[in-house]
Order: sequence, then C-alpha cells, then structure tokens
Amino acid sequence: TAAFDVEAIRRDFPILDQQINGKPLVYLDNGASSQKPIAVLDAMDRYYREMHSNVHRGAHTLGDRATSAFEGAREKVRAFLNADSTREIIWTRGTTEAINVVANGLAGRLKPGDEILVSHMEHHANIVPWQMVAERTGAKVVPIQITPQGELDPDSFNSLLGDRTRVLALTHVSNVLGTVNPIAPLIEQAKAHGVITVIDGAQAVPHFQPDVQALGCDFYVFSSHKLFGPTGVGVLYGKAQLLEEMPPFQGGGEMIERVSFERTTWNVLPYKFEAGTPPVAEAIGLGAAIDYLGNLDRNGMEASENALLTRANELVESVPGMEIIGTASQKVPVMSFKIAGLHPSDIGTLLDQQGIAIRTGHHCAMPLMDFYGVPGTARASFAFYNTLEEVEQLFTALQKIQRLFA
Ligand code: PMP
Repeated sequence: TAAFDVEAIRRDFPILDQQINGKPLVYLDNGASSQKPIAVLDAMDRYYREMHSNVHRGAHTLGDRATSAFEGAREKVRAFLNADSTREIIWTRGTTEAINVVANGLAGRLKPGDEILVSHMEHHANIVPWQMVAERTGAKVVPIQITPQGELDPDSFNSLLGDRTRVLALTHVSNVLGTVNPIAPLIEQAKAHGVITVIDGAQAVPHFQPDVQALGCDFYVFSSHKLFGPTGVGVLYGKAQLLEEMPPFQGGGEMIERVSFERTTWNVLPYKFEAGTPPVAEAIGLGAAIDYLGNLDRNGMEASENALLTRANELVESVPGMEIIGTASQKVPVMSFKIAGLHPSDIGTLLDQQGIAIRTGHHCAMPLMDFYGVPGTARASFAFYNTLEEVEQLFTALQKIQRLFA
C-alpha cells in the first residue's frame, strides 16, 4: 500500500540485500533477532567516532556528551513505554537479565508456600529465574495451563490465582506460537489480589507499543536486539516504589552512593541497578531504533504484518501434511509448524539452501514442546520489512521440500 512502503523500508536495512547460497536472502528469523536499520548503525558509529568516553564521570566535555546521549536514550525508552519517569527505566543486558534482576529483587518477599504463577507458554528466561528463586525461598512455580489453540486457559488462571499467589510472570506474546495474551485484564485481576505482575515483552515490542501505565503492570522487560536495536542491552521497566524497595542485583561502581568498610549505601534510581560501566553505545543504538520506529506509520505497519500472516495461513493447505502449532485468535506474524515426515531441523537446513532463514528447535520453551508432544518446531517469524513475495517464496520452497523429502 502507499501508506506503508515496504520496498522503501527495506532500503533502510542493508543486510537484507544479499544472496545466501546463490539465492536472495529471505530473513524470517526475526523472533530470534531482528535486523538493524542504517539509522541505528549510524548512531552507534557517530557515538564512537565523536563522543565516546565513560558516562556519569564528569570533569570533561566528551564525558558530558556521552552522558547526555546515553541519558537521552533512556528518555526515548521511557516515552516508548509511556513510563512515568526515567527513574523507572533500568538498562540491563537483555530480557533474561531483567527478569533475573526482578526475581532476585523479589526473593525477600517470598516464603515457603508462596506461589509464582507463570504460564505453560513461557520462554525459559521467564521460568528458570523463578525456579532459582523458588529454590532459595521455598516458594513454588505454578504454570497456568493453555488450550490446544495456544491461548491461556482462563479457567486455569482463575483457579490458580489465589491467596498464595505473590507474583504473576507472564509473556505478552509467545515466541513460539505468536499468541498475544490478554494481559490487561489479567494484570487487573492479579492486582486485585495484591499480586506483583511481571510482563515479558521480548516478542511484543517488535510488533506494537505497550503503554505500561495503561496496563498497570509492575514490571515490563524487553531486549533491544529484537526491537531492531543492537545486542547487549535491554530494558527493565519497574514501578519506582517497588524498585526502591528491592535490593540491588549486582554490586560495584555506579550503583553506590557511598562506600566504606563499615557501611555502603545505594545510589538513587535507576543507577542502583546499574553496576559497572553500562552499555553506552548500545543504549544509544536502541534509542535510534525507537526513533526509527516512531517515524513509521504504525497502523500501516500493523496492517502489513497482518497481511503477511493472513497470506501464510492461506498457503498452509498448499503443503501436504503441514500443520500450524498455535492458532490463537490474537497473533503476531509468527508461525510455528510441522510437516508430516520431515524433522524440523531438516526443514531449516533445506530452506537455508534456498536462502530462507527460519529457526528450528525447542525455541527455549521446552515445557511448551512437551505440551504439544513435539521435540521442536520450525518457526517462521516476520517483521515489518518482510514482503508478501517472501511469504510466497517460503511456501514455494516448502512445497518443493515436502515433495522431494517427506
Ligand atoms: N522471552 C521471550 C519471549 C523471548 O522470545 C526471548 C528471546 N528468544 C527471551 C525472553 C530472552 O531474550 P534475551 O535472550 O534477549 O535475553
């Protein structure tokens, strides 16, 4: 459509314009990590060429420039999430570290018999840190069941949410199924029980912009590298009051107010949770990615992504024995599938020979694989720069693979 010009957008992503195994690259592994626009590469390049130095150390001009670019990026993240204050935006290494910061920070509130509700569709990053904290405190990690379509089972949620529940740790969007969970009403219900809510937004933010104040969640986390920004940095949003009450995650420089051998005191938010020299260039790169996204037509982007998913769903029946895993009514353009007679990893290898990049395996969601009784799936995950032609190329390749190898 004229409103959302995918061909023009693709020119912002130089990596997409190349041949793989003699075929034009079709990059459909955006759920694992998405590609970076020139604006992000340039912002990081400019930072290193013109203003690199350590931040918050003062005393010289470059340090001031680096600090203001770095803190400017924090403000961009704040605006992106509609958080109340930059005190609530903490830089982490990514989603995984952010969840570990929260789990560790909440340990002091947990005691034997307390329950941490997660769901059966969580990524390991939103299971294992809770298991570790449960081990330390005697609390229990309890999974909310899902339906065969890959939606949260509301009866299971209603029956599990109770007096013992202390934390609800839930993914906004499933990395395997593409399911968009109805987190707003679930957060509201949890809060009515005094439960602390932690939302894993890793797979949500590449497709839509959450409003943490409207959602009312206590914590919301994501990774830059899935949001068209660089690796090595992520975001922990947390309500200021809870962050104030939580102990720091790591100790070191930057996170202190005053250190002595008798007594050390913590720095103010957000620095209390940012021990050591932070990922300055990466944070600035993420800020540039957020600016880039802000200049796109959001409605056009959503319509374009929905068209990709619709076209993919239409083409499923053109591949004999192909079955989609995850048919929720609300989905982002992520498609896990199996094809009778083919191992997922063979599908991945054969597609790669035709220049098409997907992911295969358990996708760090082994409990979900167990639920569907599969060792793994093949997963095509789309971004706004993917085209309908690429969807068709994927299916033409799958038809051929099915014909020759199934
Ligand atoms: N949660 C979800 C839903 C994810 O998809 C991922 C990345 N696959 C993560 C958490 C972990 O993100 P990271 O590896 O960037 O910490």
